[in-house]
Amino acid sequence: MVVGVTTVLVVEDDPAISGPLSRALQREGYGVIPVAGGAAAVALSADPGSEVALVILDLGLPDLDGLEVCRRIRAAGRDVPVLMLTARTDEADFVVGLDAGADDYVAKPFRMAELLARVRALLRRRVPALMEVGGIRVDAGARRVEVDGVEVSLANKEFELLRVMMSRAGQVVTREEILAEVWNDPSMKTSKTLDMHMSWLRRKLAGARDACDGAAANTAADQRISTVRGVGFRFETD
Ligand code: CA
Repeated sequence: MVVGVTTVLVVEDDPAISGPLSRALQREGYGVIPVAGGAAAVALSADPGSEVALVILDLGLPDLDGLEVCRRIRAAGRDVPVLMLTARTDEADFVVGLDAGADDYVAKPFRMAELLARVRALLRRRVPALMEVGGIRVDAGARRVEVDGVEVSLANKEFELLRVMMSRAGQVVTREEILAEVWNDPSMKTSKTLDMHMSWLRRKLAGARDACDGAAANTAADQRISTVRGVGFRFETD
């Protein structure tokens, strides 16, 4: 597994769809594993150690159909997000698809931009609602952040940025991934927006710690989020 790359499994037997879809996902910075059959899809995604972060799953496959693939992934106890592709647009298929454990559904023919937006939304949802790492506690349901027991008020993007970094604590998260998950727009990668928000976030986290220690508040940046030059950032776990 390549560090910092989010791997998407594309399960589609029609090369006219899987080819352009795989290339579009790669342009967005995802790692892509394309497979044409359902059995291969189950083998790659049902394993608990699987690196697959999301499955795009065609309903009509030559061996196992998409619903059966989805059921087998869930039966193996994997909660990886599944985005179902289908040519059949009637509601019954939609409901049955969700029953099998799919998280979302896109009807063919689809617009690539819409499909990519659904992918990003599903990947964001995989971030847990409640996390506690290195003295920082994030509760997404209540939208509260506490640093060493002291509540910190974060703006919306700072909050999302912290959640993404903490959900991958100890790992490098690339600038492209952060932009895709927090800003929905990897094309912003040359902008300074991310650096600005990261700087604000570090100061707010450091400010809370100073207040807790009883020391005078200062503007020193928190050390918990490291910059990995030329790549991205890492939330340190020690
Ligand atoms: Ca098909």
